[in-house]
Formats: sequence, C-alpha cells, structure tokens
Amino acid sequence: MNRTIPNDVLERIRNKNDIVEIVKQYVQLEKKGSNYFGLCPFHDEKTPSFSVTKEKQIFRCFGCGKGGNVFTFIQEIESFSFIEAVEFLAERANIVIPRQRQIERHVSADEKMLLTAADWLTKYYHHLLKYTAEGEAGRSYLQERGIDDRTIDTFEVGLAPINSDVTVQFLQSKDIHLQVLVKSGLLTQREKDQYSDPFRGRIIYPIKDHVGKVVAFGARSIRGEEPKYLNSREHSLFRKGNLLYNFHLAKNEMRKEKVAILFEGYMDVLTAYQAGIKNVVATLGTALTEEQARLLRRYAKSVIVCYDGDDAGIQASYEAAWLLKKFGSDVKIASIPERMDPDTFILTYGGERFKKEVLATSDTFIKFMMKYKRRQYNLSLESEKIAYIEEVIRYLAQVDHEIEREFYVNELAEEFSLSRDVILRDITKHKNQNKQQAKSKFHPPPNIQYERRNKRNDLLPAYRNAERKLLTFMLKEPSVLEKVQQKLGIHFNLDEHKVILTHLYAIYEEKGKVDISELIDKLVDEQIRQIVTELAFDHTKEFITDEEINDCIHVIQHEATHMNELRILRKKQREAKDPLLAAQIGLEIIEMEKKLKH
Ligand SMILES: [Zn+2]
Repeated sequence: MNRTIPNDVLERIRNKNDIVEIVKQYVQLEKKGSNYFGLCPFHDEKTPSFSVTKEKQIFRCFGCGKGGNVFTFIQEIESFSFIEAVEFLAERANIVIPRQRQIERHVSADEKMLLTAADWLTKYYHHLLKYTAEGEAGRSYLQERGIDDRTIDTFEVGLAPINSDVTVQFLQSKDIHLQVLVKSGLLTQREKDQYSDPFRGRIIYPIKDHVGKVVAFGARSIRGEEPKYLNSREHSLFRKGNLLYNFHLAKNEMRKEKVAILFEGYMDVLTAYQAGIKNVVATLGTALTEEQARLLRRYAKSVIVCYDGDDAGIQASYEAAWLLKKFGSDVKIASIPERMDPDTFILTYGGERFKKEVLATSDTFIKFMMKYKRRQYNLSLESEKIAYIEEVIRYLAQVDHEIEREFYVNELAEEFSLSRDVILRDITKHKNQNKQQAKSKFHPPPNIQYERRNKRNDLLPAYRNAERKLLTFMLKEPSVLEKVQQKLGIHFNLDEHKVILTHLYAIYEEKGKVDISELIDKLVDEQIRQIVTELAFDHTKEFITDEEINDCIHVIQHEATHMNELRILRKKQREAKDPLLAAQIGLEIIEMEKKLKH
C-alpha cells in the first residue's frame, strides 16, 4: 500500500466514512442480524450474497470472493487507484491530506524555480492588464466579450506587454534563472543574453494544475497576430493531455452536480462561470485524451460535451463522446443553435437560456450518433439508406437503457416504414454477437479460482485448516491471539498466513485491539486481503475451546517439524558421497512425504 499517506490520516479517513453508508450509495442493503446484505455490485446475481459488517467495517461477497474495507470498495467500484480512493473519501469527509512532504520530495529545484516564476508572471501580467495604460487594449477586448472584473480576478487573466524587455527585467529583479524558463517555454532565447517573452502583446490565461498552482499559460492575440492561440510548451509539470482548464475550481461543483460540462475554449469557461454555471472545464487546445476522460469520470457520472457548432466542432464532439463513453461516462452532446460558439451564445442570450436551450436539450449519445451519421449518408439513395439503418441498429444494440432504445426503435420504424419486429430482431442479433465477443475476452479474475480451491476445504492438508481456524478466532478474540502469539509467534507454515500474523500482531500491540479494517490497509496482496475478509465473515463456529486451540497448535508444529526434518534429509541426500546411503535417505524421504500428505 502507499506509504506516502501517514497511518493516522488513513485511520481518520476510515473512521469518518462508515462502510455501510458508503456501500449504500451503490448497493441496496438490507439488515439481517448484525450484518447487511445486498446484490453484489461486482458480479451478476439474483440472490444477495454480498455482505457488509458495520462492526468490523468490512465487506465480502460469498459469490465472487471480493472483499475488503471502505478504501477497497471505492477502489473496485469506481476503478480508482488506492490513492484516488483515499482522496475521494478524504474529500467527502472534509479531511485534508498533508501533501507538503510529498511535493517537496518530488519537485526538483528547477521545477520549484519554474513554479515561483509562473506565480510571479501571473501577478505581473494580471497587474499590467488591470492597472496600466498598456492594459487598456486588453481591458476593452475582454469588456467587449462581456467579461467583468470579478471574472478577470477569479481566473487571474492578464496581458503580456509588447516590449519583451519589461518582462525579462521583471523576472531578473525576482532572481529567477532565465534558463529554467527557456527550457519550459515561458521565455524564448534568440542569442546569448537575448531573451524575449513569447506571449508579448497577448491576453494571458494562466493554466493551473489540480491544486490551483499555475504551471503554464494560454495566450490569445488581440491584434490579429497568428496563431490566434498560443500555449506554453509542455514540461515536467505541464502535460496538456493530463490537465483540464479550470479543473481545480470545477472539481467540487462537478461532484455536487454529478455532471461535468466540457468546452473547447478558455473563453467558454469564463463566460459560463460568470453566468453561474461552475461545473465547467476545457481541453487545452488538443483533442480530449484518455487521461482527461478518466479524470472526468472520477468526478462526475455524466459529461455534457459542449463544443463549437461548426463542422470541426461536431467532428471533435463525436470523438470526445466515444472516448468518454469508453471510460464509463454517461455522455450527452449539446448542439448550439446557429452554429454558434458557447461563449457567443451565453453573451447573446444569457446563462439561463443557455441552461434551458442548450444544456437541458443536449442529445443523448445515440441521438447524436444518428444525427451525425445522417450527415454522412445520402438518404435519398436506397443503398445508402440501408447502410444507415444498419449502422443505427448496431448503435441501438449497445444502448443499455430500455426506454431510450424503445424510443429510437419507434422513430426508426416510422421514418423508414419498417416493422418494429424486424428492427428488434436485428438488435437482438447484434446484442448476442456483442456478448459473444465480450465472453471470448473474459478471463475469470484470480479470486474466482481461489474461491473454487476453497470449496475443497476437506481435501486440503490439516495444518492449513488448523492455521485458518486459529486465524479466524484470533481476528475476533484477543485472548486467542495472545495465546497463539505466545506459543507460535509467526511460525505458521503458509507464507500468506505469516504475512497476516505479522501485521495482526503489530496492530494489536499498538492498539490493544484487533482492527480488521486497518489490517486490510496493510495487506498489499489482494489474495491475502481476501483470506482475511473470508475468515472475518466466518460464523460457522461461535467459539473455540482451549483444547481445540492446543490441537491446532500441535498440528501446525508437527507439520513444521516434519518439514524441517525433510529439509535436513534432502540436504543430507544431496551431500551423501556413498550411493547406497543416498538411496537409503531417499527411502526415508518418501516415507516422510507420505506421512505429511495424510
Ligand atoms: Zn460478488
């Protein structure tokens, strides 16, 4: 597990996020006895075999074998990494994860210098725009586009002076090494000691990372220079494909609204934000990437793609929509009347109409695809008409939502005078094909194989069952734990059990009690975690007698001794110079192995 987050912080986050409450957001749970039951979200089932205990703060599915604590659950259900799950739950509980140490460790001296310079430059450009005579050109440009002072301040919009020397002198006065900025593209260098500001004369949009630190600039020309938009070059702290413009301000809004609105331009974000629509982000001058799609999925269930209304915008919407769908988002695609840009629409008609007429009337994925494909076919030709219908049917076969599918089946039937039955039959055919393809790619996860092995408990060696039995009671009875620790220490025979014991003793020593949820955090190996949840949910026996404990200990020690003897015999055999002696030892080994198998 990741050790960059201190244990006490992990514990606070765990304590603040009750597993029953968290699971309830995804699974309908019913209380039976002291546990909760529901349908497992990780495999298909009709009768509930998924169980959660409030007391131990863990879950386990008796069907597929998945189990763990609240972090594991969020990791699995949201496809998060461990860190992402911790961050998600920390944010939910309003706990700040101390990251300072981490940042200082990972950021090099050059990168630190770069962050400082970017911070100074942001203030400098912003000041220039707002308070100088030269800033007037920028101020009137923004005013014409309806951007008010508050928005300019929120986004720290600025203006780079036409004379580069001013910028260079400013940076020198702040003791910034100019070479560092040349490497990251914040300055250009023509000759030795001749530096210039690549953004001179342009409006500056600072680009911030996910915690709100400026890492780059987007710049727009206001005097007709080409290219219209210029972004600073990528560097170790700035990858265009990993960041989204305004992400740090939008992330909480997206989570609250469960929707993210995706734009293409900085100006779209500014105008929407100013109109009170705050769950808005934009790509950074490149097509949407997989990282960005994954990031959005983590923060909101659905995404509305709201690109420009021209042909290029529609093509880009098509590509973004596919990618977002691939990463599990519910995608909608807004179409803006009169081929307008989002910011022009908001400026002309206001935020309320934008919400009502653009966002609320966004097309579903399938509706958009139908419209999009329509443009590619000449529907007055019989052959193209058939190709179009076939393509739409293929899309419809992928729609999970029955009412939505029904709606388009009717629409298609009506428009092309087809029978609904024929369309439905075709859809079923494609669905079966999809299933077949999915199946051939499917490999059962390791835990299922593991579960199968477990079913044959009686065939497994006695020492293994004895170790499991002791562990089961050690997890619930401190007195059993103490007794076993005293008599055996960590000397179980199976490595996975030794790992559990080591962490179990450490937690018990520190806290004076057994915390299964914490134990799960310590176990890196998923298989081992599953052993713990399986044992923690084992209610087949209420208690264990001293006699049974002693029996188990005896079996475990017996195995250990024999294994040890066997090891010694094998060594002797290898070293034996006399072939007769070697053969004799061989016989003894076979006898011993027979005894061990019993
Ligand atoms: Zn399951």
